[in-house]
Amino acid sequence: MAKHTKCLIIGSGPAGYTAAIYASRAGLNPVLYTGSEPGGQLMITTEVENFPGYPDGVVGPALMEDLRRQAERFGTEINIGVLIEKVDFTGPVHKVWTDAGEEVHADTVIIATGASAKWLGLPSEQRLTNHGVSACAVCDGFFFRGKTVAVVGGGDTACEEASYLSKLCPTVHLFVRKNELRASKIMQDRIFKSTNITVHWNTQIDEILGEDHVSGVRILNNKTNEKAELNLDAVFVAIGHKPNTDIFNDWITMDETGYITVAHPGTSKTNIPGVFASGDAADKIYRQAVTAAGTGCMAALDAERYLTEMGIH
Ligand code: NDP
Repeated sequence: MAKHTKCLIIGSGPAGYTAAIYASRAGLNPVLYTGSEPGGQLMITTEVENFPGYPDGVVGPALMEDLRRQAERFGTEINIGVLIEKVDFTGPVHKVWTDAGEEVHADTVIIATGASAKWLGLPSEQRLTNHGVSACAVCDGFFFRGKTVAVVGGGDTACEEASYLSKLCPTVHLFVRKNELRASKIMQDRIFKSTNITVHWNTQIDEILGEDHVSGVRILNNKTNEKAELNLDAVFVAIGHKPNTDIFNDWITMDETGYITVAHPGTSKTNIPGVFASGDAADKIYRQAVTAAGTGCMAALDAERYLTEMGIH
């Protein structure tokens, strides 16, 4: 027989755990599935200095451990490493299936599946991930201080990564596939003012070179079709994020890039009654731990009100 819960939470970043803290304190006995990356993106972050309440900063995994313990303290059932693979939101009782083959029924569902960094899709990139290829300068830049590094992308993230690395590394190459940056004016100015960031326009990475660690890149100028090789020690890919919302495609209203759009702005309500969205899965603009936590709180409060209105709670 399928397990039944009043409140099912999918995801374990700041949004999921905050939703769990609120839902469990409201007596909803939530059941949370962490997905394959328990703790989410903050688990691959080092120092977090902008999460309120930590005046001396906190490392990402420690912050997530605190949030998990706080959610557990009030009775959340946390299923670590378990992924939700399929959903059926025909309703009124929502059905989900885990990768362990379990079927779970829920009166409310809080989506907190987050987003993941996008990759270039080169086999060499995959092979050298964590050996000089990274999607997080703040996490891994430290290992390449004093070395030559590259950043790929032309948005705010790429500019921020390049700017951060320029304080650690003598030479930073920025590979931009167009002849302009998409980043905000202030970020562009920071790049152009920097004396050790070299912008390569119309440039793509053709191959990342190196056997067991990055030793260079082969770049392609997409205007002239010329190829060249550069020696360097690390490549930081900063070409955007993809929300982890594929399993909801058939049910939930999203924008063209897969971010969930809430049905009523200022709430977490989706187009499906009883299904609520929180965190980066529904936020392409702010994408901060604290905003994710805030929307996780909103989703739990919205779920509780929905249950009351339905006479379930
Ligand atoms: P964006 O989608 O804004 O930019 C992605 C960049 O990567 C673009 O320049 C894009 O090129 C390039 N790109 C995409 N795919 C490839 C590829 N396969 N090869 C090479 N280049 C590629 O993502 P961001 O993560 O930069 O930003 C996302 C959102 O977050 C934005 O709204 C941004 O403003 C915001 N943000 C704000 C920050 C701040 O205010 N401090 C910091 C970070 C992000 P092209 O232009 O050709 O499409």
